[in-house]
Amino acid sequence: MSKNQELGITESKEHNTGEWYAEVVQKAGLANYAPEGMSGFIITRPRGYALWESIQQNLDAKFKKTGVQNAYFPLFIPESYLEREKDIVEGFDPEVAWVTHGGHDELEERLAVRPTSESIIAPYMAQWVRSHRDLPLRVNQWASVVRWEATDTKPFFRTKEFLWQEGHTAHETHDDAWEETITRLDQYQSMYEDLLAIPVLRGQKPDHDKFPGAHTTTTVEALMPDGKSVQAGTSHHLGTSFAEAFDITYSDEDDEIQAAHTTSWGLSWRSLGALIMTHSDDQGLVLPPTIAPEQVVIVPIWQEDTQEEVLSYAEGVKKELEDAGIRVELDAREQHNPGFKFNEWELKGVPVRFEIGPYEVADEEITVVHRPDGESTKEDRDGIAEAVIDHFDEVYAKLYATAEENLAENVREADSREEILGTIGQHGGYVKTPWCGDESCEDVIKEPLSAEIVMCPFDDDEALDDDAVCSICGEQATQTAYFAKNY
Ligand SMILES: [Zn+2]
Repeated sequence: MSKNQELGITESKEHNTGEWYAEVVQKAGLANYAPEGMSGFIITRPRGYALWESIQQNLDAKFKKTGVQNAYFPLFIPESYLEREKDIVEGFDPEVAWVTHGGHDELEERLAVRPTSESIIAPYMAQWVRSHRDLPLRVNQWASVVRWEATDTKPFFRTKEFLWQEGHTAHETHDDAWEETITRLDQYQSMYEDLLAIPVLRGQKPDHDKFPGAHTTTTVEALMPDGKSVQAGTSHHLGTSFAEAFDITYSDEDDEIQAAHTTSWGLSWRSLGALIMTHSDDQGLVLPPTIAPEQVVIVPIWQEDTQEEVLSYAEGVKKELEDAGIRVELDAREQHNPGFKFNEWELKGVPVRFEIGPYEVADEEITVVHRPDGESTKEDRDGIAEAVIDHFDEVYAKLYATAEENLAENVREADSREEILGTIGQHGGYVKTPWCGDESCEDVIKEPLSAEIVMCPFDDDEALDDDAVCSICGEQATQTAYFAKNY
């Protein structure tokens, strides 16, 4: 990026979503692309990393409250370990990066750069679990993994190395493991809805699209403004397949040896991509106050003769907000005019702006402006630290409502192959339809349109009529399927 490049966003979110997204990410100071020859990798800048840290803190607190401890496992996995669970090998084989040399010496056994860590964590869980008293066992690691996909880089959405957390647990029974799977899915959903202002859909993946070796893969899906779905977090009930492959067994109350039931669950920085994509606009980044590194920016507006009083008033406001634990920035730079500052902080996504000029000082007021829609109101100087909390709630509610409306408007029904193709082709979004469970009935949608079944809602959330038939083949339907194009 040239140093002379203009400050503002030049692409349009509506007409050129991909280019617009890349521009927002770079100009809002979130990430850069890695050097040539390293396509697929990005440099996460402090402003981008701060957002990831907020997601991390939110989830980490939830995990710890529900019995999870953090641990850390090596970046590399011996090939023989990876091969012990055959579905993992087949599922990840084309995307695994291999280390063949240490210094100048060829290794006796190749080491995989972890694409996911079941194969290195499970053998140790097997050592740690002896009896039913050792269960449940729950570990999580915050780490990066590498999947060598040959696709265009899209920061946070598609990168060869990505940051994530992966939780791994072992339980006595199938039902215990299922409860764990859903607990984590609930926590992902609540992180999206309560921190990122993004409503999600939840359900399970079709059998042919499960995590390799899993009994059930559950997912939360978020709809992006371009009509595509993002797989926003997944939680897998692994059944006993990993326990059997890696010997995670325990002696039960009758001293019988049993295979444990395991789960794994992961959420990556794709959540950050969804956050940026969902709320931002043609002026730049838009962030909910819950996660914004600066929740309020104060822009003083002065002439030479009013500078001193305006600035001193603004500093008092800043101090009061800081004392109340609010993240606030006072932009007192003399070399830039207020208009320039407005644009710059809009680009960076600060949710609430305070404008303070001589009139505000005289009337003991503050002009408060909301980033998402520019709505401007006056607040009394007195009690501003409490009043601003209401503004945060309002901004959050506006962002959530817009995303919720987009989701509600973009779930459509269809009851034939032609109608599914036509509806997604024309509008994007989700098309829900009764489905027989057969992969071939997905293929006839996937091939012409690259839309697939992103999830099937749980029966409890959305039950299917007894007499429903698959809209594609006319056989008895077993599930409701949500088709969508996806990231
Ligand atoms: Zn069918």
